[in-house]
Amino acid sequence: MALAMTLGMALPAAVSTRAAQAAAPTSATVDHPPVDRVTSFDNGPRSGRLVALTFDADMTPGMLALLRRGAVQSWYNREVIDVLRAERVPATLFLTGLWASTYPDDARALAADPLFEIGSHTFDHAAFRTPCYGLAAASDHGWELDEAQRVIQAVTGTSPTLVRFPGDCYGQDDVYLARQKGLKVISGDVRAGDAFNPSATAVANRVISQTMPGSIVVMHLHGAPYAPKTATALRQIIPALRQQGFEFATVGRLLGLLPAVDQAAAVQVFREAESSLIPFSSAIGPLAALKRHPGALVRSRPGFWLRLLRLPYVLWIPGT
Ligand SMILES: [Zn+2]
Repeated sequence: MALAMTLGMALPAAVSTRAAQAAAPTSATVDHPPVDRVTSFDNGPRSGRLVALTFDADMTPGMLALLRRGAVQSWYNREVIDVLRAERVPATLFLTGLWASTYPDDARALAADPLFEIGSHTFDHAAFRTPCYGLAAASDHGWELDEAQRVIQAVTGTSPTLVRFPGDCYGQDDVYLARQKGLKVISGDVRAGDAFNPSATAVANRVISQTMPGSIVVMHLHGAPYAPKTATALRQIIPALRQQGFEFATVGRLLGLLPAVDQAAAVQVFREAESSLIPFSSAIGPLAALKRHPGALVRSRPGFWLRLLRLPYVLWIPGT
């Protein structure tokens, strides 16, 4: 199976191919032409009720320049995160390296939150294939991926295993390149259209009407002026999809890939154990996650094993 060759792994039930998509791309949905037989994860299994909300944190050198000279107040739509946290909705956040380095404290906090999974959105949001919404062409595709990994790892301590290409514009070579670097390419089957759309209701209706089991919904985290109504739309989207019986998951969980949420939860318990003596009851969830996903230990940072050795001691102190 061509897809298995491309991604080199066991496949979930419903991974679509671009070639199978009959509709011609339009300016609203352009990603990459379907004729190039590029494969990617557009969605998860259609048989369940899981769906994944994803948010791209774009940052081009031009966006950074606008921020630096005060023409834009912020490229971080904190309200999106506030809504997700308040509603306890897991999400996958695709960060550009430039965004992570611009908001290091926020990027670190997001990566440390078990609710969120961090993916790469390349270093500075250059296009891997042009034309692509007017984005500048990436001159070195490998560097874009490597530099994003380096920066995101340095800032957050997390090394992404998922990548979404800017504008979703890429070629088959880029899928192979990403694979060589241990990255799985994540596209999506529902585009919220929140970029440059001033109507929250229009964005919400689009997502609510197009989402089906296994959907990966593409939205944005950088806020106004480029994506002004994402959070407002989200307040409509979450209850509406729940009412339809959908359950939210990270892309990793949806696709049965790296259980990043549980990994983060497992890491979090050690952080807590380090900083204070935590109630045993609050450690049960993360410990159960760790038991289910022992690979989290292997992927952890240096010092993790030492903390592991200390954990039982901390947990068994009664009354602390
Ligand atoms: Zn983007």
